Amino acid sequence: MKLFTHHEFDNHEQVVFCHDKASGLKAIIAIHNTHRGPALGGCRMYPYASEAEALNDVLRLSRGMTYKSAIANLPLGGGKSVIIGDPRRDKTQALMRAMGLAVERLGGRYIVAEDSGTHVADMQLIGEVTNHVSGIAEKCDAEGNCRSGDPSPMTARGTFVGIQAAVRHRLGREDLHGLRVAIQGVGNVGHHLAKHLHDAGAQIWVSDINREAVQHMVNELGAVAVANEEIYDQDVDVFAPCAMGAILNDETIPRLRARIVAGAANNQLAEKRHGSILTEKGILYAPDYVINAGGVIDVCYERNATDPQQIVRQVDAIGETLSEIFNRAEQQHRPTDELADQLAEERFA
Ligand code: NAD
Repeated sequence: MKLFTHHEFDNHEQVVFCHDKASGLKAIIAIHNTHRGPALGGCRMYPYASEAEALNDVLRLSRGMTYKSAIANLPLGGGKSVIIGDPRRDKTQALMRAMGLAVERLGGRYIVAEDSGTHVADMQLIGEVTNHVSGIAEKCDAEGNCRSGDPSPMTARGTFVGIQAAVRHRLGREDLHGLRVAIQGVGNVGHHLAKHLHDAGAQIWVSDINREAVQHMVNELGAVAVANEEIYDQDVDVFAPCAMGAILNDETIPRLRARIVAGAANNQLAEKRHGSILTEKGILYAPDYVINAGGVIDVCYERNATDPQQIVRQVDAIGETLSEIFNRAEQQHRPTDELADQLAEERFA
């Protein structure tokens, strides 16, 4: 297995392989870049088919966090961790505490938060052995409305604001009344996004491999249920991917009828060239790590005891960042994802 010559290595500062015999922990922590501050990024637990697959994932995700935090103007670098194992079968309290100790040994260069396969309760266990953890504190606004450390509602809010910016830019309209949006995946982020869109008067189409989640949206919001494979073909204005990555590819892009792709899923472009293909097709793409930065903004400021209203203002600023990217991309006849990368690189270089 290659490391320094790995195709995803991209000048990582530090890659740590963590093992604890007693709990069975096998994890990798990758720190891509700390120029702007400590590397904050989620801990993903997944039954990777091989160690090589886990390494590939952590390197790719940690690099993405550097770009995401830089473009959101956060005082953070980029990092990520993965635990090799099935969260439903292999996760134990001892394992999570062992992960916490591995984080603690890095002395604050890496700050851990939840990701797929881990939750607030896991971060609380990690918090028993290290302070370098986020996404655990309850947050309350001035009216006394409180929510858990889960960053998903803020990710959804940022995605909603990003859709507004994209609609303004591409469709020239301010309000979302009657806007047609197809959401792929109505889990933590997708279902909050659906509610924002519904409240703004949009019509919603949803797909999810979890039938119950779809039915919930049909009952609660009057959404139209769509079979999984048919979500790309819907006659809508916006396609919002909120499930998995690599869904913008040679097979799906020709099927899209939406003029805007704007959703929360990470790593939506199967390959870099798909950003150019979307531009050539006249589809406005909101770069994933820009539009889905609401969650990292939330966990970043949780550590500084920042006023919740300030967090909301910073999440809402995602709309302005996207507008700047859309305008620059149009002026320079370049894909939006390229512009986003350039802007982020200027900020963490
Ligand atoms: P989640 O697991 O709660 O929800 C994902 C949903 O997608 C689930 O309901 C799942 O059943 C569904 N799904 C999986 N495969 C599917 C498929 N092939 N077709 C249709 N639906 C499918 O995850 P989440 O926290 O809502 O995150 C969604 C996406 O947003 C992920 O890509 C995640 O990396 C990204 N993201 C999340 C956050 C956050 O704060 N949670 C922040 C940034 C990015």
